[in-house]
Amino acid sequence: MKEMLIETIKNLFSKPVTVKYPQEPSPPPPNYRGLIVYKEELCIFCTKCEMVCPPGAIRFTYQEDGSKKFHYNPYLCIYCGECVRACPKPGCLTQVEEIAPPESSVPDWDELEKRAEESKKAFLKAKAVAKKKPGS
Ligand code: SF4
Ligand code: SF4
Repeated sequence: MKEMLIETIKNLFSKPVTVKYPQEPSPPPPNYRGLIVYKEELCIFCTKCEMVCPPGAIRFTYQEDGSKKFHYNPYLCIYCGECVRACPKPGCLTQVEEIAPPESSVPDWDELEKRAEESKKAFLKAKAVAKKKPGS
């Protein structure tokens, strides 16, 4: 009974353990596996990260010249870290303790996935045609 009373009095004067999220930001706990950060300057565009990503939160779009552009959807990401483990270039992909921004800055993902598929097909087709050409 005495311990209970002491605990109650202590709780009356201590800071609440909860936060008023979303009015107040909710700080992530230490070692929280948050957002994926990509450094294009280190990327060799092997697309391993795209291949291993379970929900398809990483997609590459292809340009006519074969160059690729990385896209990441933090709202599809399950923060598993598979892409970081699969990436052969240390530091190119990192997982930081930040949570996804409250406002979506992600483009229309359905549209982007369509564009990724189509641009890849078009690039592979152009590559196959170029291979068949005599002298190439
Ligand atoms: S952390 Fe997991 S879900 Fe998120 S982008 Fe990487 S592989 Fe995909
Ligand atoms: S696995 Fe790493 S190096 Fe390969 S495409 Fe993805 S980010 Fe670039």
